[in-house]
Amino acid sequence: MNNKTNYEYLLSDLSSLKGVGDKTKNLLKKKNINNLFDLLWKLPKSYTDRSLSYKIKDLKIGETQTVTIVPQKYNFPRVRKLPNRVLCVDETGELDCVFFNSYEGYVKKILPLGKEITVSGKIGHFRNKYQITNPKYISDNSSLIKQVHNKYSLTDGISEKIYNKILNQIIINLPKFNEWHSENIMSKFQNISWNDSIKELHKPENIGNFKSNFYQRLAFDEIFSTFLVNSEIRKKIKRIKKKNKNINVNKQNTVIKNLGFSLTNDQTKSLREINNDLNSTNKMFRLLQGDVGSGKTIVSLLAAINTINSGFQVAFMAPTEILARQHYNLARKIFPKNLKIELISGKSEYSVRKEIYKNLENKKIDIIFGTHAIFQKKVIFKKLGLIVIDEQHKFGVNQRKKLSDKGGIDCDVLLMTATPIPRTLTMTVYGDMDISIIREKPSNRKTIKTYSKLESKIEDVLKFIKKEIKLGNQIFWVCPLIEESKKLDHSSAVKKFEFLNKKFPNQVCLLHGKTLMEEKNIILNNFLKNKFKILVSTTIIEVGIDFPNANVIIIENANKFGLSQLHQLRGRVGRGEKDSACILMFKSNLTDNAKKRIKILKDSNDGFLISEEDMKLRGFGDILGFKQSGTKNFKLADPIHHNDLFLLAEKEMRRIEKMNEDIGKFKPLIKLYDRADIINDIA
Ligand code: ADP
Ligand code: MG
Repeated sequence: MNNKTNYEYLLSDLSSLKGVGDKTKNLLKKKNINNLFDLLWKLPKSYTDRSLSYKIKDLKIGETQTVTIVPQKYNFPRVRKLPNRVLCVDETGELDCVFFNSYEGYVKKILPLGKEITVSGKIGHFRNKYQITNPKYISDNSSLIKQVHNKYSLTDGISEKIYNKILNQIIINLPKFNEWHSENIMSKFQNISWNDSIKELHKPENIGNFKSNFYQRLAFDEIFSTFLVNSEIRKKIKRIKKKNKNINVNKQNTVIKNLGFSLTNDQTKSLREINNDLNSTNKMFRLLQGDVGSGKTIVSLLAAINTINSGFQVAFMAPTEILARQHYNLARKIFPKNLKIELISGKSEYSVRKEIYKNLENKKIDIIFGTHAIFQKKVIFKKLGLIVIDEQHKFGVNQRKKLSDKGGIDCDVLLMTATPIPRTLTMTVYGDMDISIIREKPSNRKTIKTYSKLESKIEDVLKFIKKEIKLGNQIFWVCPLIEESKKLDHSSAVKKFEFLNKKFPNQVCLLHGKTLMEEKNIILNNFLKNKFKILVSTTIIEVGIDFPNANVIIIENANKFGLSQLHQLRGRVGRGEKDSACILMFKSNLTDNAKKRIKILKDSNDGFLISEEDMKLRGFGDILGFKQSGTKNFKLADPIHHNDLFLLAEKEMRRIEKMNEDIGKFKPLIKLYDRADIINDIA
C-alpha cells in the first residue's frame, strides 16, 4: 500500500483501525493515545504462552495450558449454585470444562458434542479429574488459541483480545523508512532498522529486554529527535541578524574594579561568552546556569552595562518585585551615576508609570527593572538591546521560544537559572539555548554546616536559635510540605508560627501560600530590614533574594524534599560573612537509604553534583519540578539508565551542526517524535 511508506499513516486517527469504534477510541484518548504511533509505546507487561498443546495425561495442575478435546456429555444441574460441567476427552484421558453462572445455550454453543475444540486455561483438579474453570480461550479453530498472548496493563473496558488485535494490525502495516541515522550511529545498534526494532519491541519474549539493540535504538531515536528539534530552534534564533554591540572593555572594567571583590574564573568566562554574543551579528539566546549564590547577577549586570554603553536599552525581569528591587538597588550602587535606571513596581502610581513608559519610548531610560510587567504591550522601547530574565526555570521550551521573539530583531536574550541539572539532561531541557555555566562559588563563601535532627529534639534547636539571635543573626524556618493538601501546608506553618511566637515574642513573622502579594512584599522587606528574627514559611521563600543577615535555615520534615530542593533551600543562607547552618528535621530515624542521601548533602555544596546523585537515587522525574520541559514524557528513554545514549545523541547532534548537514532525512523522525510540537516547518 502506498501510504504505508509514510509516517502520516502512523499519525492517522485510531478509527482507521479495525475493531476500534468510538467507545474504544474514547477510552484510549483518555490515556493520551490519539493516533497509531501513540499505541506503539503501550508495551506488553507479560504474556501467556498458549502456543503448545498437551495431551490430557500430560497436563500439569496449576499451569496455564492448551489442550484439544472432544466434548462428550453435558451435566447441567438444577441447583443454581452448582456449575455447569462438560465432560471432555482425548485419547489419553478426561477433562471437565466447568462454567459458573453460565447459560446452557452458551455452553452448548461453544462446546458442541463430538466436535474437536481447543481450550486454554489454568488446569485444576477436582474429584480425581482434570478441569478448566470458566475458560476464556476456547475455539474450534485451534490456530486462534495456540498463540502467545500478550498482556497489557489494560485500559478499563478494552479486553486483552482487542488490544492484541489492534496492535497486530499496526505492526503488520508498519511503514518502512529510509534510515535516518548515520552509519556510525547505526553500527552502535547492530544496524537494526526502526521498523524491525518496533517489531522486536512487541514480541512477548522480549519483554523487559532493556539492554537489547532494538530497545536502545528506539530510546536513542527519541532522545535524538528531542535534541534535533532543540538544535533547530537554536539555529533558527541564531540565524536572525542583528546590529552588533561594541563592548567598551574599559568602562566594563571600571565597574568591576569598584565591586569590592574580583570575579571568579567561571564568572569571567561566562561574561566573555556573553560579550562575544553581544558583539556578534547573530542574535544571542543564552542561558546562564549557576548554583544559588554563584554570582550570576553581577555577570548579567555587566552584560547590561556593556549593552547600554553601546547605545542600547536593557530590560531586566525578575520573578518577584522584591527581587527586582534588589537588582535595581545593586545596579544603582555599581553603575555610573549618569545612567538612567528605573524600576516599575506594582505600587508605582499611574502617573509615575506613565512617565516611565514615555521615557522608555524616548530612550531617556537606559535600564528598567521589574517583574513581567515590563513586557506589557504598552511598554515600548526605543532601542532595546538586551533582555535579562532572572530565575527562569519555570519556563518550558515553547515559552522560551516566544520570549526570544520579544524585543525585536536587535535584542539579545539572556536567561538565568539557579537550578543545576545533571549533565545528561542539559540538552533535553535547555538544548534550544547556548549555555554558560558558573560552577565555581566565590572564594569567600563559607560552607554551610548541615545537620540532621529528630523532631523530638526540637528543644536543642530552639536553644541553638536563641544563641544565634543573641549574636544578631536571623533564621528561616521552613515548614513541612504536605503534598496532599495546600491547606494543611498553610495550617502547619501557622501552627509553627504560633508556637515560635510564644517562645520568641514579637520576633517571628509568617509567610505562606495564602499571603497576599502586597503583604508578602512587606513581610519580606521587614525581615530584610531585620525587624523580625525568624521567618516561618512554607517552601515559598523567594528564590534569588539575598538575605545577608540570615545564617540559619531549619527545614522540617526534610525527607519530603529532593536533595536538589533541599540544596536550593539551604542556599538561602550562607551568603554573608558569618558561619551558617542548615538543620534538617526528621520525624523518625532515617533509613539507610535516606542516610545516604543526606550524607551527599552534608558532604557537598555543589548543586550539579547533588542533582546527579539525587537523580541516581530518586529517578529524574522529581528532582526539578520541570513539568513543562517534557522530560518526563520520554516513552522509553531514561536519563539514568541511558546516560550513554544521551551523551551519544549530543555528540551526534554537534557533529551534524558542525558539518552543517542537511537534516531533511530526519523529517519522519521529527514528525513522529516531536513532543514539544514546535517544529512544523522543518524540511
Ligand atoms: P545568584 O547566582 O544566586 O543569583 P547572586 O548574584 O545573588 O547569586 O550573588 C550572591 C552574592 O555573592 C551577592 O551578595 C554577590 O554580591 C556576591 N558575589 C558575587 N560574585 C562574587 C565574587 N566573585 N566574589 C565575592 N562575592 C561575590
Ligand atoms: Mg540570583
